[in-house]
Amino acid sequence: MIAIARISKAAVLGAAAFLFAAAGPLEIPANWTTPVAPFAVTDEIAYVGTEDLASYLIDTGSGLILIDVPMAENAALIEQNIAALGHTLSDVKIILITHAHFDHVGGVAKLRADTGARLLVSARDGALMAAGGKGDFHWGDALAYPTVAPDGEVIDGQKITLGAVTLTAHLTPGHTKGCTSWTMTAHVKGKPYNLLLTCSTSVPGYNLLNEPQYPNIIADYRASFKTLKALPCDILLAPHGSFIGLTEKRAALKANPDTNPFVDPALCKRHFAYFEDAFNNELAKELAAKPAP
Ligand SMILES: [Zn+2]
Repeated sequence: MIAIARISKAAVLGAAAFLFAAAGPLEIPANWTTPVAPFAVTDEIAYVGTEDLASYLIDTGSGLILIDVPMAENAALIEQNIAALGHTLSDVKIILITHAHFDHVGGVAKLRADTGARLLVSARDGALMAAGGKGDFHWGDALAYPTVAPDGEVIDGQKITLGAVTLTAHLTPGHTKGCTSWTMTAHVKGKPYNLLLTCSTSVPGYNLLNEPQYPNIIADYRASFKTLKALPCDILLAPHGSFIGLTEKRAALKANPDTNPFVDPALCKRHFAYFEDAFNNELAKELAAKPAP
């Protein structure tokens, strides 16, 4: 129950910020820009994001893969975190994303320029990034960020290998049209686990029954929940730290390095049950409010 309350609070926060943005000036939650010292989540993955906006750095043994660079104003901080782990920026060979909202990719333009990495993105979110977030199906031009055109396209089921790591892309649209989740085998003290980095599945103020620029939105969310619930998952990572209890897990890991709290298969089930319920509740609310034909 504690964990559900935590997710609930985070989801509300995220939605509130987005709603605020649509209405007027954007109010950024403080924990979106609060620095945290980078730390190892698994043997090969380090967390290099802010307190709530995730950025994951994967050391493949033959270069680094960086997933998500939250908000343009956090880009320098992410670069400092990469350096603090003993890497140089040119070690980053590939940049991937979960989804093309400003709070998860606003810093990608700077990181790509400073690292020389190849940026690989799904077609539909790649188009949104090339437009700097403008022309979003729901937000229009309200949540813009520095434009950056991807170097290549990610398709469903695609495997991306660098060194010892292979990531598999799973297109899970809804939250954005090209929302991408990733799976890989990760290791904790050498032992392999199924890791799932899920894209966001929240419904941040969307009109599910009436998004003229995204008529398939309901079917896409449903298919994505089905996909995500079926993926093998011992370790769940997400674009927001609060979705996975990151702050608490980080503290627990520090207190007891022998037990890695990120290995948490129950969280995978709880996470998707929570967000699928929220989706169904939003849809039911819209259906109830819909005038009779
Ligand atoms: Zn988002």
